[in-house]
Amino acid sequence: MQRFPVIGVLALQGDYESHARALEQVNAQPKMVRTAKDLEQVEGLIIPGGESTTFLKLLEREELFLPLQQFVRTRPTFGTCAGCILLAKRVTRPNQQSLGVLDATVERNAYGRQIDSEILTGPTSLPGGPLEMVFIRAPRIVELGNSVEVLAQREGSPVLVRQMNILAATFHPELSHAYGMSKNGDEHISDNEDEHPDRRVHRYFAQMVEEYSRQARSGASEAHKHPAQTTAADRE
Ligand code: GLN
Repeated sequence: MQRFPVIGVLALQGDYESHARALEQVNAQPKMVRTAKDLEQVEGLIIPGGESTTFLKLLEREELFLPLQQFVRTRPTFGTCAGCILLAKRVTRPNQQSLGVLDATVERNAYGRQIDSEILTGPTSLPGGPLEMVFIRAPRIVELGNSVEVLAQREGSPVLVRQMNILAATFHPELSHAYGMSKNGDEHISDNEDEHPDRRVHRYFAQMVEEYSRQARSGASEAHKHPAQTTAADRE
């Protein structure tokens, strides 16, 4: 019988509703996460886009920073845009605090003020050909550790990466349309996300969560944790 993994969406700010819809479309059960107790009830978590500085303030206010840091060190977590910034070990422009699990340096607002939002199509190793990617005041991954796999690129730089149980995108995959299905211009960013959505990235993450939970059930998950995600130094 098919399982429907329960995947949390951090619902403090940002476009968490769109991620919840995207998860339903790939047969996962979304659950909004606002408290540490909510975190205990999910198998994986999406940290949506938004404003990373605001996230940090809200995480502090809700006393969620430390529980979230514990969660992302072992459990499948997908950070998109501001979520990617929060997961990175190093954040620049300016330097700022983060959850510190993804072995990467991420530069905030890296594409300048003129190009606030952009829709591009780039190569991906996910099955199904090129991927439409919506960038909104996007960060840029300027440095990546050797253990991080690149799953999609924008003009040669990584925009979708995986480090064992961590997935991170500098774009908004909840807004991707199937290749050739998007209109030009900004209007479809907000209006038409449910028309011909491309759910490959959410499906990929849901599979990561299922795989993790399957291994956890069989007691094998310890052996599969990534050293960079779980070293003793990281826990200090
Ligand atoms: N510019 C935002 C930040 O620095 C991220 C933008 C986004 O998530 N769309 O946090």
